[in-house]
This record gives sequence, C-alpha cells and structure tokens, in this order.
Amino acid sequence: MVSYKELGLVNTKEMFAKAVSGGYAIPAFNFNNMEQLQAIIMAAAETKSPVILQVSKGARKYANATLLRFMAEGAVEYAKELGWEKPEIVLHLDHGDSFETCKDCVDCGFSSVMIDASSLPYEENIALTKKVVEYAHQFDVTVEAELGVLAGVEDEVSSAVSHYTKPEEVIDFATRTGCDSLAISIGTSHGAYKFTPEQCTRDPKTGKLVPPPLAFNVLHEVEKKLPGFPIVLHGSSSVPQDEVDTINAFGGKLPDAVGIPEEQLREASKSAVCKINIDSDSRLAMTAAVRKHLAENPSHFDPRQYLTPARENMKKMYIHKIVNVLGSDGKAA
Ligand SMILES: [Zn+2]
Repeated sequence: MVSYKELGLVNTKEMFAKAVSGGYAIPAFNFNNMEQLQAIIMAAAETKSPVILQVSKGARKYANATLLRFMAEGAVEYAKELGWEKPEIVLHLDHGDSFETCKDCVDCGFSSVMIDASSLPYEENIALTKKVVEYAHQFDVTVEAELGVLAGVEDEVSSAVSHYTKPEEVIDFATRTGCDSLAISIGTSHGAYKFTPEQCTRDPKTGKLVPPPLAFNVLHEVEKKLPGFPIVLHGSSSVPQDEVDTINAFGGKLPDAVGIPEEQLREASKSAVCKINIDSDSRLAMTAAVRKHLAENPSHFDPRQYLTPARENMKKMYIHKIVNVLGSDGKAA
C-alpha cells in the first residue's frame, strides 16, 4: 500500500472547492505516454495551474499500470525541477469500471478515482459508488461518480446515444453515495466525432459543422439542487479545426470530426463545473504534428525528430486550454 501523500500528489477536495468558488475549472488531461505527460507538466508548471493527470483503463492496458503510476510520481519531481515550488497534481483513474480496479488504484498511489457505474440501473450505481467511496475515503482519496450517459467512444466506454442527467436524482445520489464530485451528461460526448452531421447544422459560409448547444438548463438545475457541489464534464475536447485540417492535408482521413465549442466550455467553467476532461484534443495535436513532420521530412526516422514538434504542439494546446478556456492559470502559484 502506497499513499499518494508520500508521492507529493494531492486529492481533489480543496482544489475543487477553490475552483467552484473562484469560477474556473481544473484541466483533466489523459496521458498514455511520456511525451503527453511531459507536455502536460510543462504547461501546468509554466502557467501555475493545478492539474489532473488522468489514466484510463485503456491507458493502463497500453502503457502498463505500474509504469504509468511511477511516471505520475516522477511528474511531481519534474514539476519542481521546472521551478513550480508546490505542484498541485492529482493522479486520477478515469472511468473505473469495478470496485477492484478502484481499490487497486487507491492502494498504489492514486489520489482520486472515478467509479463509472452510470450504465447500471440507478440503485446499483448507488450501491457500487458507495462501496468505492467507503474504501477510498479511509485513505483520503476522492471519488468521482457519474449519473447520466454520454454518447461517443472513449477506450472501452461507449454508448450510441446520450441520456441527460436527471436533476431530480442528484441530491439523493450525492447524499447516499457520499461521492466528492459528479460527472453529468449535458450533451458532451467522447471521441473526435461527438456529433453526427445530422445532429449539426452547417455554417453557410465555411461549410463546417456547427454542433448543437450543451444543455445548460440541465446544468443549472443540477447546480440549484446541489449548490457548490463539484460537477465534472467528460468528453469536452473541442476538436480544433486547424489540427483536423493539418491531419487531413498530410494523408489523414477525419472527415466531419466535430467537438464542443470552446465558448461553451468557458461558460461552463464559470459555473459549478470544476473539472473538464480533455483527451481527443491532445491526440489530434500529436497526430497533426507527427503527420506534418514526417510528410515534410521523409528521411527522418529518429522518433525524437517527430515527437519533439508533437510534444510542442500538445504543450501549446494545453496552455491554450488552461489560460483561454478553463481559467485555471495562476491558481496553484
Ligand atoms: Zn469520460
């Protein structure tokens, strides 16, 4: 058993309380490899932003759970080397699907876990979430739960259609489970294809897809029921058109990829939404830079040659999100 406290990590409790009262949101960036992690830490250290490092079940399978955990520990030391005196870094399990997975993460140094039982019937979601909360809280590890179903595909989590969170359930759910934060469904979606062309309208000038707006009425009703309670948005990449265009210009094929407009995320950040999950945008930034570099430099074969611009491009994107979308810069000085 390793406590996250020995590793210099923090849980989300104080971080979220400050974000809710301060009207900003904490970035939760997923990572699977060293370059993503370096870019996240460089961006957070440079902007002095609290940050959540997210590891999904798919990431644990891809990179090895032990290796990822030690990488997160190393990230704290790296942040200090970069001149960030008191890094506020959370290591969070994204979409934990069982008590055993959550327990395993609590036992090996995670400071926060998500139990996603949102696909189960309501009472079963409560029972499983409560079980995880009771275990995690013994070690001061915070727990995120989910009510409502998001559409889209993220690693092994997928659903064809979304079901908005029912605001009338949130008080009962939060009280009975004791969870520390709640992921809700208000129209965000996993992946780079968040909406079908049929769900969107087309901008007559550019021909680009314009996604349907988020259900802010649901968010506001949830906030009214649970004043000050930390709310989480999953599937909140914006799928930047310039990255998609670069990918397509250099041999990729991502037609009609569409995400959540940043103005809407900016608005959500000012509410009780205090954690915004961003994964696809990092994948796109990395892929765009790699494709461009390899197309323009066909003789290069040293991974450092194409991963350096990839890392730079991700770092630029993370800083943009922190400063211009979530407003979390300077909050962990
Ligand atoms: Zn998610």
